[in-house]
Amino acid sequence: MLIQKEAYHKIKRELDAAKVDLVAVSKTKPNEDILALYALGQRLFGENYVQELVDKEASLPKDIQWHFIGHLQSNKVKYIAPFVHLIHGVDGEKLLKEINKQAIKCNRVISCLLQVHIAKEETKFGFDATELIDLVDSGQLANYSNVVVKGLMGMASFTEDQVILKNEFEALATTFNQVKNKLNNVHFDTLSMGMSSDYALAIKEGSTMVRIGSLLFGARNLVL
Ligand SMILES: *Cc1c(COP(=O)(O)O)cnc(C)c1O
Repeated sequence: MLIQKEAYHKIKRELDAAKVDLVAVSKTKPNEDILALYALGQRLFGENYVQELVDKEASLPKDIQWHFIGHLQSNKVKYIAPFVHLIHGVDGEKLLKEINKQAIKCNRVISCLLQVHIAKEETKFGFDATELIDLVDSGQLANYSNVVVKGLMGMASFTEDQVILKNEFEALATTFNQVKNKLNNVHFDTLSMGMSSDYALAIKEGSTMVRIGSLLFGARNLVL
């Protein structure tokens, strides 16, 4: 259990220069690793699994901003609604509705990113770009009183092909700018794209928030 301190400082310098936020993806990693990164100043952490996030939130410092970056099932929203800082992967209206309902119950406003399907793979969740534009045009988003849509999130294909990655990031950035222009809302300012292997390219294409796990914490050998 050893965090990659040098890598953290290097990445942090690059991101600060580009004004890009860093979400340290700590899924499957123990609390001591999170605390080690916390001690270096990191406050934004990302988790994929509801139960793991709930357990970590309960035992770690209260000034950590917890980002939920995995696939969220509607019936589990209630567990994270009291504290979650940003939900990245909102992939449908059913989920949006449930987040709003739970946010009202907690008397909170919950920030969300809408996930856009940009990869070739069938397995990645999210709205299609056209579906998303339709949703924005419908004006429905205004009905969710306790949800703030802060921006978009996407996951590129699992490939090292830089051309494919660039095209996918570019497409997402285009959709982001379209939605931003339509909403004309100061809160809509976050484009979450880029992970350990592709964050530099994602930033070039307009990312404002990257989600980095293995470069900071080492490889994940435990798959939940
Ligand atoms: C695990 C995960 C990451 C981090 O992946 P790394 O390759 O370890 O940086 C980023 N985003 C999502 C949605 C993830 O599930």
